[in-house]
Amino acid sequence: MKHLLPLALAAIAAGALASSAYANGLKRLYALDCGRILVKDQSRWTPGINVGQEKWFSNNCYLIQHERGTLVWETGLPDSIVEQKDGVDTPNFRMHRDKTLVGQLAEIGIKPDDTTYVAMSHSHADHTGNAKLFTKPKFLMQKLEHEFAMKIVPKPMNDGANVQILEGDHDVFGDGSVMIISTPGHTPGHQVLLVKLPKTGALILSGDLVHFQYMWDNKLVPPFNFNKDQSTASIERVAKLLADHKGKLWIGHDKDNTDKVDRAPKYYE
Ligand SMILES: [Zn+2]
Repeated sequence: MKHLLPLALAAIAAGALASSAYANGLKRLYALDCGRILVKDQSRWTPGINVGQEKWFSNNCYLIQHERGTLVWETGLPDSIVEQKDGVDTPNFRMHRDKTLVGQLAEIGIKPDDTTYVAMSHSHADHTGNAKLFTKPKFLMQKLEHEFAMKIVPKPMNDGANVQILEGDHDVFGDGSVMIISTPGHTPGHQVLLVKLPKTGALILSGDLVHFQYMWDNKLVPPFNFNKDQSTASIERVAKLLADHKGKLWIGHDKDNTDKVDRAPKYYE
């Protein structure tokens, strides 16, 4: 008789897990519109495939509210692009912004400096465009990415920005609900975000681990990445994390993927 009690408790615990994905301090995740990019030749990502064909990339930022603070993940294309009706053209891309990051945060009742933390997947301009708006929050950056960012001209962040240097994975709020996962390869210190939402379940926000679904399905590494072997290892690591957590990958630049995501003011719990 004695041994039956633990079994009964285990059954109750399993039932509880099935009805609620995670019990933690995470409250909400908002997906914000952080611009869109017309890529003029998608074969830059997939050599020999779809040569000369245009492709639209989405661009997302996210606001995560936890009972111990808030995290902005990615800062997107610069808000100033919203003033250019026809976008900003470069030889390889045309960049657009329909709404500002600041405006979308204001709709949720948040100013940039109200946030506790800012983290960006990496230091390229489509992810760091508004980093200078955050003067008080702590930036969570890998050591190698910080070194890389400081060599970019102009610097993506303010001089004297409040930076916490990371070396590997990092538990943002201390309860395992929001984990920065080190995934080098696209850049020296690229990182993705594993989010364990109480109702929605586990998500991984991709950064530029891959840029669109075809690349994920075929485990493709674009030729311009910083390190091919690291990129492949990072893709494999994320695939294992997704399997372990029965999670979904949200690919920030994949327009079809983003079109299925509810953007702010809607949110995920
Ligand atoms: Zn990007």
